Amino acid sequence: MSDFLDQIIKATSPLFNFFYEWCWLILPLAYFESCFFTASICKNIMQKKGYDDLKQWYRVGLFLNVFGIMLCRFSADKTRQPVMSMPDPQGIHCRRCGQPNEPGTIYCRFCGSRMD
Ligand SMILES: [Zn+2]
Repeated sequence: MSDFLDQIIKATSPLFNFFYEWCWLILPLAYFESCFFTASICKNIMQKKGYDDLKQWYRVGLFLNVFGIMLCRFSADKTRQPVMSMPDPQGIHCRRCGQPNEPGTIYCRFCGSRMD
């Protein structure tokens, strides 16, 4: 089986022959370099998503490789979270400016007028 493969490879291009002889070195090196590549991608994604611990996410990309990118891709976006925690619109509305206030407040927190 191995002799058969050798015959095929020696019949094909010298470039592939070179790869076949040095794949024990080329493949680990390529994987090693791709780790740094995916690590920087993870770092960039999490920077855009507003995370502070970028070194940790660099390590995630370094060790998990492509799976680290998937992890970053599907993790929560911190820059969009303030939209989710907007003040409750069900509170009482100010008569003067119309902004929502928490029920039980005496003065409006937007314009300062008395609520009653
Ligand atoms: Zn008001």
